[in-house]
Amino acid sequence: MSKLISKWNYPTTVRFGAGRIEELPEVLEATGIKNPLFVTDPGLAKLPVVASTLKILDDAKVPYGVFSEVKPNPVESNLTAGIAVFKKGKHDGVIAFGGGSALDLGKLIAFQAGQTRPVWDFEDVGDWWTRANSAAIAPIIAVPTTAGTGSEVGRAGVITNEETHTKKVIFHPKLLPAIVIADPELSVGMPAFITAGTGMDALAHCLEAYCAPGYHPMADGIAVEGVRLVFENLPKAYANGKDLTARAHMMSAAAMGATAFQKGLGAIHSLSHPIGAIYDTHHGMTNAVFMPYVLAFNRDAVEERIARLANYIGIKGGFDGFAKAVLKLRKELKVPHTLPGLITDLDMTKKQKELIADMAIVDPTAGGNPVKLTKKAALKLLDEAIQG
Ligand code: NAD
Repeated sequence: MSKLISKWNYPTTVRFGAGRIEELPEVLEATGIKNPLFVTDPGLAKLPVVASTLKILDDAKVPYGVFSEVKPNPVESNLTAGIAVFKKGKHDGVIAFGGGSALDLGKLIAFQAGQTRPVWDFEDVGDWWTRANSAAIAPIIAVPTTAGTGSEVGRAGVITNEETHTKKVIFHPKLLPAIVIADPELSVGMPAFITAGTGMDALAHCLEAYCAPGYHPMADGIAVEGVRLVFENLPKAYANGKDLTARAHMMSAAAMGATAFQKGLGAIHSLSHPIGAIYDTHHGMTNAVFMPYVLAFNRDAVEERIARLANYIGIKGGFDGFAKAVLKLRKELKVPHTLPGLITDLDMTKKQKELIADMAIVDPTAGGNPVKLTKKAALKLLDEAIQG
């Protein structure tokens, strides 16, 4: 009996290319949304990129509401407030506009507005998603303005539970947006720190998906090309934010990473999630800090795979060559080498470290790591990421 058993899911329609945001009214019509709620974050809401997008809706005489109370690493109170606005405005769909935080929250508003159970009942555990009332989920249009999370092509929304300080991944097939507009011009204004962090997030997705065990040659193929695009284009987008070609390739790499990670993620994410939930750090930047330590930890299981990847993207020296290239890329992007470089005055007690390790090993991503992430291993990786 063959062990080549798998389940493959592929994403939604993506209208890709510079200037395609102009198609927003047409996309609303195609999805049957007549009165959308435009969900974004407060930083973006002040930028011309939001004003010019809302002008497209005004010019097309589309009625809409705006909700922008989305904090980076969104929390339940953002969701509750968003649902109230969605219901009050009698909205029939969501335009989720922004980075992963606004995309996830927009998706979760469309999902949760029609549910009676708390959002935590739909965590990405087993088939919990089947408890949801599918018919009550409003259609979603996703418009990314960063190039990292790939939330626009994903069936998940990440939200932090403030009571338990845990980041939860909520899953439902209908959280997959109906249509995506991936317009790289919208990402041109991203500051360098966010460009670096989100780009490294895309790399972490491609890399962890590629290293995850399981039979998924399609995800593997997408992931290796995603890694190539990041190595070639992230330094260019970081050095010159107006380089539209580099921005476009990064937007592709982000969508590719999230398409590939249906295969699984790994210990980079398992450790990054509790750190992000407790210290409110940028998700992609936190991934970037953990990347070389986790890569070394997984070496025995992935050496040959990584050598193949290095060969494909033109890096000499097999696993070691690739590991060096990751360090060089991080340096070029000014990614801190250790957690204290990311979190000021970090002074973690032994008890806090234990708590983070406990959270990491039960994170749903831990199962995708090619080497079992034990508590001892999680503590060691955490110490390495603190000390360098
Ligand atoms: P973000 O959405 O938190 O945005 C970070 C900052 O960048 C914000 O201040 C925002 O205003 C600003 N910004 C965004 N686009 C901009 C632009 N074009 N110009 C200027 N400023 C801009 O960052 P992110 O990294 O995209 O998203 C992180 C969130 O996504 C985390 O909560 C993370 O857990 C989640 N995430 C979700 C998935 C998923 O599959 N759903 C995957 C990975 C991460």
